Amino acid sequence: MENFQFYAPTKVLFGRNQVEQLPESLKAYGQNVLLVYGGGSIKKNGLYDKIQTLLGEDFNLFELAGVEPNPRIETVRKGVAMCREHQIDVILAVGGGSTIDCSKGIAAGTFYDGDPWDFTGDSSLVTEALPIVTILTLAATGSEMNGGSVLSDMSKNEKLSFHSPLTIPKVSILDPENTYSVPAYQTMAGSSDIFSHLIENYFSKAKGAEVQDRIAEGLMRTVMQYTPIALEEPTNYEARANLMWASSLALNGLTGRGKSGAWTCHAIEHELSAFYDITHGIGLAIVTPRWMEYVLNEETVDKFAMFAVNVMGLAVINDKYALAKAGIRELKNMFTAWGVPMTLPEVGIDEEKLSLMAQKAIEHSALSTSSYVTLTAEDVHQILTNCLV
Ligand code: NAP
Ligand code: FE
Repeated sequence: MENFQFYAPTKVLFGRNQVEQLPESLKAYGQNVLLVYGGGSIKKNGLYDKIQTLLGEDFNLFELAGVEPNPRIETVRKGVAMCREHQIDVILAVGGGSTIDCSKGIAAGTFYDGDPWDFTGDSSLVTEALPIVTILTLAATGSEMNGGSVLSDMSKNEKLSFHSPLTIPKVSILDPENTYSVPAYQTMAGSSDIFSHLIENYFSKAKGAEVQDRIAEGLMRTVMQYTPIALEEPTNYEARANLMWASSLALNGLTGRGKSGAWTCHAIEHELSAFYDITHGIGLAIVTPRWMEYVLNEETVDKFAMFAVNVMGLAVINDKYALAKAGIRELKNMFTAWGVPMTLPEVGIDEEKLSLMAQKAIEHSALSTSSYVTLTAEDVHQILTNCLV
């Protein structure tokens, strides 16, 4: 296990009706609140009205609506201008990862003289940030409990991230009932994203991080158990609660600290989203099994066999390659059973830009130097080609 610092300062208010603690949570930071949300799901499911009622006359509420899935830098810039104009004290992000990530860009951008896109090239430019309170509405990214933010500049076909302890939300309200209205496609995409965060950490070069691996296995098994239930019965509280808490724990440092290295499938998926604006979790589900098949070799086979047994629940057999391959097959079957489209053409991507995206994935990440199995642009191109069928 490598040396690490673990810092997870978010106060989590988990469960039914926790939104009632919202006024108290915001009051600690001030009166001028920027409410940030997405395309309107919170208006349809009643959460928006509930917030208006709870905050009543006690707060000066300003609104930034319309944050896009794969949030755009233009929306971050708009939010920064609003925070400056209205002297915002605290940002209230209500939504999924896109809304929370956008809010982090705004929170840090408010104190930065240059353009907030600069953060994606150098996270150390974040020197101060407005406090963020979140109400999570989709179990997926873990953004509710970490300092990461993934932003897109579609004019350049770039989707890049920054990370800062200063943008970790102060408070996150996690009421599983707020995810009852998440449609099936976003539910399976969210579960795929949680699964991917765990896999990216699990398959790391760092040896001997057993605590992290056993926690990750438990979380992956939980996601396997509850995703079909949430898909079948969207208002099943237990299923939504387990997925929601798994989302936060999968990416708050618990399974990743002590295990450095580049995240392969995320680096590749970010290029798919940057060029084709696809749903993050779906892209990850398509890429992950193909990446696994590609990097299965003498050095990685034992870990893949461990994954097959401890996560996919397969019986131990002597042929470790056969076991490893069966585990990868099971993973693919799991995504298929959820209903995830498992090829690139199904999400509107053909071979035209695969080579360019492979090149960009190498440029934008440390895949060629510090991923689990280091990759060249040709390798990434081959993995993407394998995703065509
Ligand atoms: P999202 O992009 O925030 O939301 C996806 C869709 O789900 C939106 O159309 C949204 O509609 C809808 N939705 C959300 N909650 C809903 C609800 N309760 N009922 C009905 N519809 C609902 O999805 P996400 O997967 O959470 O976030 C994806 C983004 O996060 C990507 O850009 C990804 O790269 C990034 N990401 C960040 C991290 C991190 O650590 N920061 C990690 C992984 C991925 P509305 O817009 O109408 O609300
Ligand atoms: Fe992710």
